[in-house]
Amino acid sequence: MDGTRSKNKVIVVGGGLVGALCVCFMAKRGYDVFMYEKREDMRKIIVERGRSINLALSHRGRRALRHVGLEDEILSNAVPMLGRYLHKLNCRNDYVPYDPVANQCIYSVNRNFLNQVLLNAAQAHGNVKLFFKHKMTKVDFASSTITITNLDTGEIKTESADLVVGADGAFSVLRQHMQLTPMFDMSQAYIEHGYMELCIPTERGTNLKPNCLHIWPRGEFMMIALPNQDTSWTVTLFMPFEKFESVISEDDVLSFFEANFPDSVSAIGERALVDTFLGSKPSSLVSIKCNRYHAGDGFLIVGDAAHAMVPFYGQGMNAGFEDCSILHEILDETEDNIPKSIKDFSSRRRTDAHAVCDLAMYNYIEMRDLVTRPTYRLRRMLDCFLERLFPGSWTPLYNSISFGHTRYSQCVRNRQWQDKILKVGLASCVLLATLIIVFL
Ligand SMILES: Cc1cc2nc3c(=O)[nH]c(=O)nc-3n(C[C@H](O)[C@H](O)[C@H](O)COP(=O)(O)OP(=O)(O)OC[C@H]3O[C@@H](n4cnc5c(N)ncnc54)[C@H](O)[C@@H]3O)c2cc1C
Repeated sequence: MDGTRSKNKVIVVGGGLVGALCVCFMAKRGYDVFMYEKREDMRKIIVERGRSINLALSHRGRRALRHVGLEDEILSNAVPMLGRYLHKLNCRNDYVPYDPVANQCIYSVNRNFLNQVLLNAAQAHGNVKLFFKHKMTKVDFASSTITITNLDTGEIKTESADLVVGADGAFSVLRQHMQLTPMFDMSQAYIEHGYMELCIPTERGTNLKPNCLHIWPRGEFMMIALPNQDTSWTVTLFMPFEKFESVISEDDVLSFFEANFPDSVSAIGERALVDTFLGSKPSSLVSIKCNRYHAGDGFLIVGDAAHAMVPFYGQGMNAGFEDCSILHEILDETEDNIPKSIKDFSSRRRTDAHAVCDLAMYNYIEMRDLVTRPTYRLRRMLDCFLERLFPGSWTPLYNSISFGHTRYSQCVRNRQWQDKILKVGLASCVLLATLIIVFL
């Protein structure tokens, strides 16, 4: 395999959000790109309700979209979210802006729209071929080939390329084959909570405060709502599976929601709430970490295939989009040396992917529980004050993750450093106060 050819052949497996964007990046580099997606072309069918209808897009994802010339189109079809609106059980609701200092925001985007725009952009390149209903079924690292099955005809073919990128999601076939190679470590953890999607329809959507992410934090579980452009809201209930299983009848559903999310019942509508809840099953959430993302000289996994995470930091897609930017940067640095680039990708990305997986896990506790505590508000106030006092030096964790491009692992280290300073500051204040009381 010649790693430094300028006109490399790339196969991208998976035409989801990350795969479609990866095709755009590789096509822009002038490579010949072949994309294989096992599902039907989503632009030709009405996609069934599935994983999260809308997603939070933040700076890392935006930068990648900007690079392929799609940021403006996506943002003009998205809804800005400037803060969290907390629905408390005591009805003393609260609005917490994401960034009171610089007013930056995240955006709620429709998953299908985004995927369609990416596929159209990919197809617009003359050096790209998209294949749908084609599933990768086998990988052979020894011969650097993959096996593709045409799901319509049953035809099986063997393909090879300078680079095969597995953007085939959390249950990646490429990763499963990598797991059989020596020294490949991987961990997979399901959380005990599942999620279910509900909807606040357009006609009642205007009753909710616009341009924010609504949260109903309830300690052990929570519900959130993200805005759609048509004033409807996609509502997601996250809760232990055990609790889902205890709500089994129409009366159970209504009394559960009346007790825990009273203001949501009329917004969603009693009938729709009962029908959706009893007619659907909660989905599971998984977090996956690997110690490397490449195999051989030309195989790489990106996006959820490399680092699926629970959705509580709104970073899964953003991190996957950032993978594409980083791969592109490394290919520039190595002057298209693919074997070197994929090794560099693994070493550059590992600590960051692990850091954001851990952060996403932690943020579930923050969103469902900590946000209602006075200590959380106090910390937010302190962070804002210090950010104003030391602009550029003191950036709160959420802002550095969502509104910046600092490496995820560095964001975590900055937060640990900030925690230490605050602890020392607090201890000094207590000591000073004690001395004043004793000596005055
Ligand atoms: C409830 C929920 C809310 C979320 N909210 C956010 C959010 O607000 N912000 C955010 O950034 N992220 C969010 N995420 C995460 C985000 O959805 C994922 O990180 C993102 O979809 C990953 O994209 P991907 O392309 O890597 O994988 P996928 O979207 O899973 O796409 C993989 C594609 O590969 C195809 N495929 C699979 N196997 C094969 C095969 N063998 N051959 C060919 N094709 C194959 C699949 O059909 C699919 O099209 C959320 C996730 C969930 C579950």
